Amino acid sequence: MLYDINEKVIKLENEGKKIIKFNLGDPFQQTPEEIIEAAYEAMRKGKTKYASSAGERKLREELAKMHGVSTDNIVITAGSKWGIYAVMYLLLREGDNVIIPTPRWTAYDLTAKELGARIKLIRTELESDWRLEPSEIEALIDDRTKLIVLNNPNNPTSKVIDENIVREIVQIAEDHGVRILSDEVYADISFVKVKSVLDMSSNHIVVRSFSKTFAMTGWRIGYVIADRELIDKIIKLNQITLTNIPVFIQEAALKALELRERIISRIRREYLERAELACKILSDTKLKFSKPEAPFYVFPKCDGLDSEKFAFELLDKGVAIAPGTAFGDYKEFFRISLTAPEEDFERGLRIIAEAFK
Ligand code: PMP
Repeated sequence: MLYDINEKVIKLENEGKKIIKFNLGDPFQQTPEEIIEAAYEAMRKGKTKYASSAGERKLREELAKMHGVSTDNIVITAGSKWGIYAVMYLLLREGDNVIIPTPRWTAYDLTAKELGARIKLIRTELESDWRLEPSEIEALIDDRTKLIVLNNPNNPTSKVIDENIVREIVQIAEDHGVRILSDEVYADISFVKVKSVLDMSSNHIVVRSFSKTFAMTGWRIGYVIADRELIDKIIKLNQITLTNIPVFIQEAALKALELRERIISRIRREYLERAELACKILSDTKLKFSKPEAPFYVFPKCDGLDSEKFAFELLDKGVAIAPGTAFGDYKEFFRISLTAPEEDFERGLRIIAEAFK
């Protein structure tokens, strides 16, 4: 469905129509200039050759320090998406199953299904503030359960999982010998503190990314944190596929880490301002939603809404959103991405709000 909307957006744009895009999770900010410069400099210095499939030692060391793990627990990947794929490819066999709370970013189940695994979805509700019930996860675990996927903060709800719930889920996973794959790509720029599964146990797997934190989506660089055995397997998979993430991109990522505090506080503040404006505009409507606790999304509900139909109608008014059905059984919901260009942002939100007065 996301792709159908995007195709229509492209078609309308080709016809010369202007579309305000709230449908994609791609930052509106340009990658910071110092990061771009660092990539150029590395290229000029000849860092344009084959390199380690684990990632550059210095970058892994910095990340290891940041996360309080050893360098051997980190592998650099082509975005977190490749990290997720690699983990699933290495851990899932035909007939295994994966537990995934919804609403969820679609790549988890598309990837798991592609690898022959079965999906067990758990529903969370706006009415209970998207609370994840650890007991529901436990009830779904059987002897073929290989992974519990957590997305913290969540795309599309922008909800951060309560620390006690993370702790309970970690306990359940350990009691049953199941691993958690925790996708924490929005954690660094979250508005509220995120407790990582890593803070509680080193038995689980975390994927992180430079994409959202540093407005670097197109650079394709992320990383996996896991036990040494799994990291070694991902390195071997990198050896026969990507070879390495370009070193000049890793050098740019290193520069991003150097400027981390400054960039993160700016990016977080910009999204917080956008989230506050969106909540203000939408609160004047019959939409129900929870206030985002992290970038980039608001996921409102209108009772009785057919969000796919609404998405196409809204396109005719020049605004693109993502229908809730793209994230699970959430027909009455839609996702607004707070990443539309500055000049269109408020006007686009007002057009959406107008439809629900
Ligand atoms: N996880 C989540 C929850 C996402 O929303 C996205 C991007 N939409 C990704 C992972 C992938 O990010 P990347 O591969 O750019 O690191």
